[in-house]
Amino acid sequence: MDAISYERAGDIADALRAAQQPGTVFIGGGTNLLDLMKGGVTRPAKLVDITHIPGLDTIVSLPDGGLRIGALVRNSDAANHAWVRERYPLLSQALLAGASAQLRNMATVGGNLMQRTRCSYFYDTAFTECNKRQPGSGCAALDGHNRMHAILGASPQCIAVNPSDMSVALAALDANVRVSGPRGERVVPFGEFHRLAGEHPEFDTTLQPGELITAVDLPPPLYSEHTHYLKVRDRASYAFALVSVAAALQFDGATVRSARIALGGVAHKPWRATAAEQRLAGQPLSDALLHDAAAAALQDARAQRENGFKIALAQRAIIRAVNQAAGRQGGAA
Ligand code: SF4
Repeated sequence: MDAISYERAGDIADALRAAQQPGTVFIGGGTNLLDLMKGGVTRPAKLVDITHIPGLDTIVSLPDGGLRIGALVRNSDAANHAWVRERYPLLSQALLAGASAQLRNMATVGGNLMQRTRCSYFYDTAFTECNKRQPGSGCAALDGHNRMHAILGASPQCIAVNPSDMSVALAALDANVRVSGPRGERVVPFGEFHRLAGEHPEFDTTLQPGELITAVDLPPPLYSEHTHYLKVRDRASYAFALVSVAAALQFDGATVRSARIALGGVAHKPWRATAAEQRLAGQPLSDALLHDAAAAALQDARAQRENGFKIALAQRAIIRAVNQAAGRQGGAA
């Protein structure tokens, strides 16, 4: 049995000081971390409990009309908060699509950003080949079961996908992640928070050692009217996405002024479909335009042995999500 030390932080400075010891991990809701520890996937030397830090469990309105959601706000509280529902329904929908009611009541916004892939080889330590768990050991999924794995941005080192629904909406909404660390505070644009596996799949994010997520900032709500989060999965609830789509639109009459589209379940990070967004912008929405945009979004997709179906599925999900966001009956997916 490994010995683990535990410390409860009273404030952010306290947490940062306590985290100076190598092998320290912050714990909030613990819904993913405790599973990883029980399975022997993660073996921290020290846990720093951040759940008693005041001020991190609030949602406040920002002067520019945006929102600041504290890192300790529970997923269910964020999803059901009146300001989130009114100004960012895409985020509310995505949060409610995640996990189960019990888990959403426990899981925090900061923890959701940090949850690790659900690749079964990563969780099962009987498999010795996993570059994410043990750098340099190989990747059992490459020649194994990879139905759930990446079709975009994959690396020969790791083809795992990010499991978060919330993060797909935050990617589409251009959120920012606020971080405190030994060198002070910084703000990370959402697209730069999670990383592709590349040569170092052991790192899921660009967080530096000892840094603590304190909040997520949402920009002014430009996309509150026409949004839809579509999650395609094997079961109706409590299942991770095969493919998910966060779609948000602005219109000038019948013409799309701008579009924001992000995909989940397809890459090591939430995948922003900028090529599709560009195809839609400035055009009246039509079936032909949507098919063109969906094809553009997946033009660089590469299938693994078992997940070729995801490419067509993602295209059809984009079409359906955008149609739903627009309130349009179109060529269905
Ligand atoms: Fe490990 Fe990534 Fe390969 Fe899964 S896909 S076995 S997480 S290296």
